[in-house]
Amino acid sequence: MTPLSGFAAVILQYHHVSSETPPVTSISPEQFLQHMTYLKDNHFKVVRLEVLVDKIRKKQPIDDKTIVITFDDAYNNVYQNARPILKKFDWPYTVFINPKYSDKGYSRHMTWKQLNQIAKEKATLANHTLSHDYLVRNPSNRPPKRWLYQMLDDIELAESRLKAITGQNHKMLAYPYGEFSLALTRQLMKRGYVGFGQHSGAVGHYTNLARIPRFPASGIYANLDKLKLKMESLPFAIKALGNADMVIKQNPPTLTIAVKVEDFLAKNVQCFIGSARAKVSWTSEDRFTVTSPNPLPKERSRYNCTAPSISKPGRFYWFSQPWLNLL
Ligand SMILES: [Zn+2]
Repeated sequence: MTPLSGFAAVILQYHHVSSETPPVTSISPEQFLQHMTYLKDNHFKVVRLEVLVDKIRKKQPIDDKTIVITFDDAYNNVYQNARPILKKFDWPYTVFINPKYSDKGYSRHMTWKQLNQIAKEKATLANHTLSHDYLVRNPSNRPPKRWLYQMLDDIELAESRLKAITGQNHKMLAYPYGEFSLALTRQLMKRGYVGFGQHSGAVGHYTNLARIPRFPASGIYANLDKLKLKMESLPFAIKALGNADMVIKQNPPTLTIAVKVEDFLAKNVQCFIGSARAKVSWTSEDRFTVTSPNPLPKERSRYNCTAPSISKPGRFYWFSQPWLNLL
């Protein structure tokens, strides 16, 4: 069946919900309530993450303005501060867990008892690896293949621990720090996993399930005036990506995007790296390349591409390519 385009879901990513934790990964309970109130007042439809993934897999229609709420790291303040708000709205949400933290009883994180309790309410519990290691960086300079299989074992162990204690086994993995590689995602897809990053973008039937985008909504991204546009963003119908391994081999990398050009004009596609305009070159009717004008900085960065919708004025198609520069 031909994938459907034009339907839009957005996944929001939160960490801490507290005024006392590091601002860069936190949102205050008041501001979190403000986000949720905005979603309700503006008729967004909040669904479970596994329901959205299932619809993408089965090519079933996705309601426009679908939202998924996710939290990484299972912080105790999510239980204390976000849970009561989400209960009030009667909305589902997903918590990505590092089982080792709950096994060790770290006080900043939810206990297994708390996790099982939120699961009985409306929470989905999912995999954030056993102990939150970097999946791509190889600290001990082990042979790359050995490191890859060690990380895959870590992910599988986390999944079986989740299943054993909570009964939940969705094979949904949020990459720690949003870092992944092509070698890793290929193995994960073979094993039936879907993977979530921290690069921005809307989700639809063309979304690659190995690298599902989420909009960070904490810290500097918590500002609702800016977040509104992201909540309403639309997914490009991307048919193929070339040179899209997050771990760059050349600097700057040139990304090739083959896309269905519908409901936007090719000339209106703009891409940025930080605040700098990236060069967009259309090489055919449905294919363009993006290159940063400058070498990428060390560590993580991304190309963000947007185009205004013709049929939905004020809304934007949105795609982001994450990069990891370890050169
Ligand atoms: Zn994390």
